[in-house]
Amino acid sequence: MSPTVLKPRCKSHALLAYEALFRQVLPQYRKHESIISEYRKEKAGYDGERNVDYKLSTYPRKDFLVVQGIRLKNPPFYFQIDTLILTRRFICILEIKNQKGTLKYDANLKQMVQEIDGKVISYKDPILQAEAQKTHLREWLAMHGIFNVPIEALVVIAYPSTIIENVQGDPGVYNQIIHREGLHQHLERVGRNHPNHLLTNAQLKKLCRVLADEDTPLQTDILEKHGVSGRHLIRGIPCSKCHTYPMKRLYKNWQCQKCLATKPKAHERVILDHFLLHQPTVTNQECRNLLQIDSPRTAYNIMNTMGLHKSGKNSARVYHAPPLSEFPQDSSFPFNLQNHIAKQSLD
Ligand SMILES: [Zn+2]
Repeated sequence: MSPTVLKPRCKSHALLAYEALFRQVLPQYRKHESIISEYRKEKAGYDGERNVDYKLSTYPRKDFLVVQGIRLKNPPFYFQIDTLILTRRFICILEIKNQKGTLKYDANLKQMVQEIDGKVISYKDPILQAEAQKTHLREWLAMHGIFNVPIEALVVIAYPSTIIENVQGDPGVYNQIIHREGLHQHLERVGRNHPNHLLTNAQLKKLCRVLADEDTPLQTDILEKHGVSGRHLIRGIPCSKCHTYPMKRLYKNWQCQKCLATKPKAHERVILDHFLLHQPTVTNQECRNLLQIDSPRTAYNIMNTMGLHKSGKNSARVYHAPPLSEFPQDSSFPFNLQNHIAKQSLD
């Protein structure tokens, strides 16, 4: 009975890249203020979205198709939608907000202000943001020959503990900014306003296919953003037990020189982290440098065993990053950092 998820949520490129950076940066740079603060922002956004994903998954409509996060091009712009609900009767955009504390929405000033821990932070008007996405999506749909489907948008506050204040008491706002807990009722309301089938099954199916093809996740160069260069990064594979590096290649295995732990596939994470941090390709030479090995044959075997797509011949051959959705979603951090971040996130 639950909605069908067409595209399950995966971590953003930026979030995966921060996790990679924590693994690959030298220990003395790990607690850099700006890196941790940007990481926490990305993580909070992802957690908020997951929280709403869960609520939506319990909505008893099986004719709802859900895209959990998509970024599309409406030239010359890109627009990103946190959650897109597709039905034959209407389309609904969810703009998800993860702020905690008190959120004051001023309909006259078109402003949202968060009050938390004695601080006041102002944000872009989420209703205007959602309206802008509607406009982009309408134009995008028109480019793909779909003109007849109404688009709705809801701003969803992800955490029940967040207090929403509608400063002007504008009644329209109550149907535009909602709590996660009210999602089902608001989807009912939206559904009642659009009782008729406007898209055929074939049109909806085609739309799903085009959406999947045109999704263009944002790639963020976080090394440049934080001024991190090669000299800040670990060379070779760090041991996942004691964090000593580099592990040594030993008969199709990797061994830590300090604690003697072994891990046959220890290279995989380092190569995937390279894709997230540096560029979406790797050459044989770059691979040897990353893993601190001398043998081109070993590098060749390693990359082939990983099943990476390749292009070019001989010395010009490059191996390509898998799509973002295929990156491992589990985050493994050096211990100390895990504690540090967990402590800061408690609220
Ligand atoms: Zn070790």
